[in-house]
Amino acid sequence: MTPAEFQVQVGRLSETFGKNAYGSERIALIWKEVSLLSNETFIRIVDRFVGELRQAPLLPDFREAASKEREQLWGQKKQEERVTAKEFESAFSRDDTSMIASAIIKRITADLTDAEWESVLRMLDNLSKTGPRAKCTRCQDTGALFARRKGDVCGDHAFRCDCPAGERNRSASARWNFSMLKNFEVCS
Ligand SMILES: [Zn+2]
Repeated sequence: MTPAEFQVQVGRLSETFGKNAYGSERIALIWKEVSLLSNETFIRIVDRFVGELRQAPLLPDFREAASKEREQLWGQKKQEERVTAKEFESAFSRDDTSMIASAIIKRITADLTDAEWESVLRMLDNLSKTGPRAKCTRCQDTGALFARRKGDVCGDHAFRCDCPAGERNRSASARWNFSMLKNFEVCS
């Protein structure tokens, strides 16, 4: 909230409860208490005071109202985060989620090169485009995944994908795991 916006609400308070109720000292203390609130939030608080109180609200009233508003906002934010987490869970399979998590951790601990990180981001991009997924984006639920040793022009190696389809795949191929991105590139 800007000082000008605050002044508008102080005007409403003075008009309702009398000019004498709000000297400059008092206004300065109230400003300190509420300056971080948004204008809309402060308007809501003043609406309530104007509508409900017989006597001029003082610093403790503002403090209490401000902390209630903050709590409510915080609760809303947590609720939104819960919804986002739910959406994330339903959009990604367990394997994808653990792959993403381990990639992020590796990136933070600098175990992934920029190129490897790029390929993770591409995977993430694909995952987010497919939405709630029916198929593994790496093997299309065939369980088979082909990767090429870095620097090689040809010579694809077959792996069993690290998804549930790869688990069910009975071929003799080695199981793919994420750390193989160090030496291999997944063929598209
Ligand atoms: Zn797969």
